[in-house]
Amino acid sequence: MALSKKHTAELAKQVFEYAPAPESIDHVRIQPRYGLFIGGRMVESHSKKRFATINPATEKKLAEVSQADEVDVDCAVKAAGKAFESWGRLAPSRRARYLFRISRLLQERARELAVVETIDGGKPIKESRDVDIPLSAAHFFYYAGWADKLEWAFPNRRATPLGVAGQVIPWNFPLLMLAWKIAPALATGNTVVLKPAETTPLSAMLFAEICMQAELPPGVVNIVTGAGKTGSLVVQHPGVRKVAFTGSTEVGKLIQRALAGSGKKLTLELGGKAANIVFEDAPLDQAVEGIVNGIYFNQGHVCCAGSRLLVQESIAEPLLEKLKRRLSTLRLGDPLDKNTDIGAINSRAQLERIQGLVQSGIEEGAELYQPECRLPERGFWFPPSLFTNVAQSYRIAREEIFGPVLSVLTFRTPNEAVEKANNTPYGLSAGVWTDKGSRILWMAERMRAGVVWANTFNRFDPTSPFGGYKESGYGREGGVHGLLPYVELN
Ligand code: NDP
Repeated sequence: MALSKKHTAELAKQVFEYAPAPESIDHVRIQPRYGLFIGGRMVESHSKKRFATINPATEKKLAEVSQADEVDVDCAVKAAGKAFESWGRLAPSRRARYLFRISRLLQERARELAVVETIDGGKPIKESRDVDIPLSAAHFFYYAGWADKLEWAFPNRRATPLGVAGQVIPWNFPLLMLAWKIAPALATGNTVVLKPAETTPLSAMLFAEICMQAELPPGVVNIVTGAGKTGSLVVQHPGVRKVAFTGSTEVGKLIQRALAGSGKKLTLELGGKAANIVFEDAPLDQAVEGIVNGIYFNQGHVCCAGSRLLVQESIAEPLLEKLKRRLSTLRLGDPLDKNTDIGAINSRAQLERIQGLVQSGIEEGAELYQPECRLPERGFWFPPSLFTNVAQSYRIAREEIFGPVLSVLTFRTPNEAVEKANNTPYGLSAGVWTDKGSRILWMAERMRAGVVWANTFNRFDPTSPFGGYKESGYGREGGVHGLLPYVELN
């Protein structure tokens, strides 16, 4: 006897009712107050001003972090400049040894780092445990391998380091973005001053401890915490020779303007509005998993998130039905629970931004679907959502929402899919789902996107370059390409 859809859904709910599985936090020690990491030790900030970092799932204060001002940033850049004199000349194999040591320490302290990343940022523990932390360690490991092989990376050229790199990172992958920035800079012989995001400074503070544990020479890595103003002081400091920024397109443009004519090398990794394109011959169940991973991973706080689903009209109905059913099985709640799929939104400001854009979608005429979902009373939460009936002109189809919100559009022909996918000021990533290899290649050739995933989404590897076209920025991070922004070739 065939079961009705309602009955099947009820059954699924019964079978998949999970018992709580909270990650242990006994092994995690967060200090009540953190200073700045300058010249190899934690120092008090010049102004002695501090700000609180909170757990977005509970709104409880976790620690107080120092606010670096002009004097602090100057000290940090000077410490990095002094360290560069010896680090830049150190035998590359010795530099590699430090990077391997850092990678090893990240692995050793992985459980602690995963918890800190989750409570400071709101992401599910299974993501910080299985993605953020292992990939961060892998980045250091990978670039450690390059440190003494630069003549193979740049044959017949002599690669020399630039000096002090000023690096500013966002809150969506705090430790991973730190690794993306620091590992290639150190491997090539540069020293760094890094500013983590205001809402997620804690894993960077633990990383400062790891630098000390690894006995990294003082000043090779300096970490200054603070708000946007601190970031702008870092990138504009005259002692900084190279700037690497990941964050919003808006701030990326500000930095580009501020640095024009300064001679500083600049790489920008900015926003995105990726198309995840599903053709009628795609394996639908697999595609549904890819769509879910593409937009609901890390609450959609992902620059390369597949936030626009382009589905071929002939399969739109069955695909959406499957997708909606899958959404109803996603578990939202305590990010420290190992079964949680959707954690907390990173901050109140980000939640308000998401709510504003979702409201604009409703007002412009799109149809909102959200599964039944109870939100915790405290903290910042947004249910997994999808919009149908979306026109390309709507804000939800054009702007980066950076939340768990999918906009669904349809197409009839491959040419129409290409046209719609590229109809965005961004160009960071894209996904193609089809059974045909030739179509994958045909599409990949036409996508104006730095990364095109085929029959998968959100796959990262230290050996693969990552970066954008158009307003998604320029320069590549990862792989051998990621070395280039940190060297001068003679
Ligand atoms: P921002 O671009 O403001 O933040 C990124 C980093 O830059 C943070 O460390 C921030 O500090 C710092 N910063 C802010 N202003 C300046 C400045 N003038 N000069 C130098 N550094 C600066 O992103 P938001 O956190 O404000 O997020 C806003 C939107 O940006 C999101 O909704 C999302 O759409 C997008 N975004 C995209 C990211 C991506 O990876 N593509 C990452 C983060 C956000 P502080 O944290 O203290 O503000």
